[in-house]
Formats: sequence, C-alpha cells, structure tokens
Amino acid sequence: MQCRRCAKPKMVEIRMTVSDVDLRFLRCVRCEAQHWLSPDGEVPLRAVLDLARVTR
Ligand SMILES: [Zn+2]
Repeated sequence: MQCRRCAKPKMVEIRMTVSDVDLRFLRCVRCEAQHWLSPDGEVPLRAVLDLARVTR
C-alpha cells in the first residue's frame, strides 16, 4: 500500500471491524495522510463515523 499524497510506500495499518464491516485504517508515516478502506474500496471518514454511530 502506497500513500497517494506523497507516494511513500510505508503506511501504518490498523484493522478493525465496525458494524460487521472489516475496515482498514491506513496512515502515512511521512505526511500523515489518512485513509479508511473497506473491502469495497476507500471510505470517507464521515461514513466510518456513521457506521460507528449505528453500532452503539
Ligand atoms: Zn504520505
């Protein structure tokens, strides 16, 4: 996985499950760009927050 902003090929990856959706949170170690990925593709942060809200 490569950062889309600065192209650095090293990102910190954290996996978690929110509302039965497998999500991966990726953060670039250089420019701190952040991405959320679901099995279907990239997810906006806002959608992640919506999922989290439904759960609780
Ligand atoms: Zn970056």
